[in-house]
Amino acid sequence: PEVRARKPDWLRVRAPTSPTFAETRALMRRLNLNTVCEEAACPNIGECWSQKHATVMILGDTCTRACAFCNVKTGMPGPVDMLEPMHVAEAAGALGLEHIVITSVDRDDLPDGGARQFVRVIEELRKHAPRTTIEILTPDFRNKAKLAVEMIVAAGPDVYNHNLETVPRLYPTIRPGARYYHSLRLLDQVKSLNDQVFTKSGVMVGLGETAQELHQVWDDMRSAGVDFLTVGQYLQPTPRHAKVIDFVTPAAFAAYGSVARSKGFLQVAASPLTRSSYHAGKDFAEMQAK
Ligand code: SF4
Ligand code: SF4
Repeated sequence: PEVRARKPDWLRVRAPTSPTFAETRALMRRLNLNTVCEEAACPNIGECWSQKHATVMILGDTCTRACAFCNVKTGMPGPVDMLEPMHVAEAAGALGLEHIVITSVDRDDLPDGGARQFVRVIEELRKHAPRTTIEILTPDFRNKAKLAVEMIVAAGPDVYNHNLETVPRLYPTIRPGARYYHSLRLLDQVKSLNDQVFTKSGVMVGLGETAQELHQVWDDMRSAGVDFLTVGQYLQPTPRHAKVIDFVTPAAFAAYGSVARSKGFLQVAASPLTRSSYHAGKDFAEMQAK
């Protein structure tokens, strides 16, 4: 039998136990909302949920794609839940969120790729939680991207995040349904449509990429005007998923961080447990205060 690589100490986290964690979970169930925190088996769930920070995953829990790193189930998703936008706004209000991260599964089955639901969610949040800043993390919308991005940017999110996930060489195995340059163009499009919207992107490391390849990705992101960068360790959610090639040390993360900062990002988060939405609210507030 295959022995799974033992996680180094710097990736060990405590199991979630706080009362706030339980309250956040109960609220999500009551409002019938899915979270990436749970679906992606995120190691930070104890910390984030105890601080009432969660990433809501709209448009169902079933994705039309099957990325090799992702724990979300693949299949034919159900109909769009028209109550979801209201429920997201209610959750933001109930948790008293200063910042909310909204993402979705890929809905290649929908004519608009699910863009309209992002718009509805932004509208409900602006109406019912006007003080909450909004970060959306979208799919690539494939051939529907131009219209989808136009619609979403017009709705006025504070931060538009789309992850490149890995270096172009690894796309065929790690992100087979996607194209590197398509995702890069999407980020560029957001900036050209409205340069007041902050753009953000991220990569996972530990998949066999080289430092040189990563530096190129960051240059590409900067050419597309990306403002914020996240870099985190890939963890294999189950033995069926892509293997971890290496556990990048905290020192190597620090080195990645300083190279990335020298390239001019407004903000860089690079550490083993960094996720696209980890500390997103805190980081955004700090950046605005600068
Ligand atoms: Fe959820 Fe993001 Fe925190 Fe993970 S890092 S628990 S996905 S909010
Ligand atoms: Fe997971 Fe997103 Fe890939 Fe779907 S498209 S499998 S949700 S990473």
